[in-house]
Amino acid sequence: MADHAADAPILALQGLRAGYGEVQVLWGIDMAVRAGEITALIGSNGAGKTTLMRALSGLIPVQAGSFRFNGEDLAGASAAQILAHGIVHVPEGRRLFGAMSVEDNLLMGAYARKGSRAETARDMERVYATFPKLFERRNQAAATLSGGEQQMCAIGRGLMSAPKLLMIDELSLGLSPLLVEQLVAALRALNAEGMSILLVEQDVTIALDLCHAAFVLDMGRIVRSGTGAALLADPIIRDAYLGVLED
Ligand code: ATP
Repeated sequence: MADHAADAPILALQGLRAGYGEVQVLWGIDMAVRAGEITALIGSNGAGKTTLMRALSGLIPVQAGSFRFNGEDLAGASAAQILAHGIVHVPEGRRLFGAMSVEDNLLMGAYARKGSRAETARDMERVYATFPKLFERRNQAAATLSGGEQQMCAIGRGLMSAPKLLMIDELSLGLSPLLVEQLVAALRALNAEGMSILLVEQDVTIALDLCHAAFVLDMGRIVRSGTGAALLADPIIRDAYLGVLED
């Protein structure tokens, strides 16, 4: 896989805590995401995966611990500052503007980035090259897209924000195997160009097969980590997350 992967982490978390008001969800996350890699975050329902993505995109505050990105301390940063540093969140449920065209939805990502016209045009070209279906449907209202196309549009909008780290929450949720295959191929291609990706994925087989490294979150703590291949072969992971009972 990606032999361009550098050793230094692009994202380093230590003892990160976050939650919702009085409700503590993340109890001290230690995690390092390496530049140029696909990193997967897996765990059962309610483990705190979405909460971690929300904290890393500044939607909820980091209550304690360290959050460093590209060597910068982002623990107290706002959502806009985090976005400007290149952490881009593709949220669960896609959150597209249904009445707006595909192209206008993509442009929403460009507004957030505030790039030049030439940069926007270049990014749009890359999105359409990655997802030719979006080019075909560029003038169509986003609400009329299939679920898979909507996911492409949400990822495309993320790409328009010039991510250094693209965080995707639930890539495959509700999509057919064929569409998931296309999305996985698109992510592999983006990663081959050097994009760092942090993926939350409920289908553990897909996640571990795609990623370089993975972290397992359970009740707000990282309980295991390793390469995708090592975790796929780990009897505890197979039993708990893949429903495979070992002899
Ligand atoms: P899932 O795959 O089911 O979305 P998850 O690992 O992404 O699971 P989170 O959505 O991060 O889990 O939820 C972690 C915990 O935080 C759960 O107990 C959930 O009930 C709680 N939680 C999530 N959102 C809120 C909120 N807005 N206010 C209060 N508690 C919340």
